[in-house]
Amino acid sequence: MPFRDIAGHDHLKPLIARAALRGTLPPSLIFAGPSGVGKRMAALALAQLVNCASPVAEDACGECASCRRIARGVHADVLIIEPGETGAIKIEQIRDAVERSAYRPFEGRRRVVIIDDAEHIAPAAQDALLKTLEEPPSGTTFVLVTSMPETLLSTIRSRCQRLRFGRLSPGDVAGVLMAAHGYSEADAHAAAAFSDGSVGRALEEASDAFVEARDAALQLLEAVAKDPPPARRIQASGGLPGAGRSKADRDALAQSLLAMGTLLRDLGVLGAGGDARALANADLKGKLQPLARSFDQDRILSSFAAVDRALNALGRNASPKIVADWLAFQI
Ligand SMILES: [Zn+2]
Repeated sequence: MPFRDIAGHDHLKPLIARAALRGTLPPSLIFAGPSGVGKRMAALALAQLVNCASPVAEDACGECASCRRIARGVHADVLIIEPGETGAIKIEQIRDAVERSAYRPFEGRRRVVIIDDAEHIAPAAQDALLKTLEEPPSGTTFVLVTSMPETLLSTIRSRCQRLRFGRLSPGDVAGVLMAAHGYSEADAHAAAAFSDGSVGRALEEASDAFVEARDAALQLLEAVAKDPPPARRIQASGGLPGAGRSKADRDALAQSLLAMGTLLRDLGVLGAGGDARALANADLKGKLQPLARSFDQDRILSSFAAVDRALNALGRNASPKIVADWLAFQI
């Protein structure tokens, strides 16, 4: 997909695109950053741009034959190398790419060799690659995609220009989950709040459980917001998951506590008059806004500390019921 369809990385994308169009892109690049944030997609967008028949606004069109072939993974000049069943990128795979890069591109203007999960290049294969990076063939760009750039040989790293991809905002992650993975708005925001800025991580987690955990956390905050009498607080704690003693109960409560942390952070953002787009739980803005009036910064900080202590207690095998009851009096 072209750069414009990739979420986030708003400074990096135009930088890469402009350098590619001007022909000033270094022949060897490392796309480094957390997994699941779109590094490989950016490498493919770059391959599309340098081979696109009719670029639009400093980006690939996404529709010409070349763009479509690259998107389908069948373009003769765009090679994607990734770990095989053994988990390693073997020397044969690197040799094949190196041999091909000695020839001019077959159908496109520029050959792009994308090595995904490059930290898995076997040591001998790294040596083979290094020789090519030292004298890069004129028609080929190498892009090493990795979340662990420091595990590459220092000699390889020094031959490549490194571009750092950061984490995505919760809003960007939610947007991708809705647009590309069919998530409902509530599911997308709930999963995004726990994703640590990675679409990949959000997809790994079960979002149903998150939605429930977050709902329970929100209900507790709402129930205690106006500082009700003790009996009501105890009653409210019963709404948290994990009343039993099993490991599953403990995990469910821990998830709710993590959700509460993201809700408290959002209340802090709203209370400080911050940008609502920065909210981890943007879909709950309508419920959080009135709640923010009951939670000043001091209360948010002490609640945060209480959530932290509750998580620690759970980690030390405290009873979920006792932890939930205690927490309901601290917030
Ligand atoms: Zn195109």
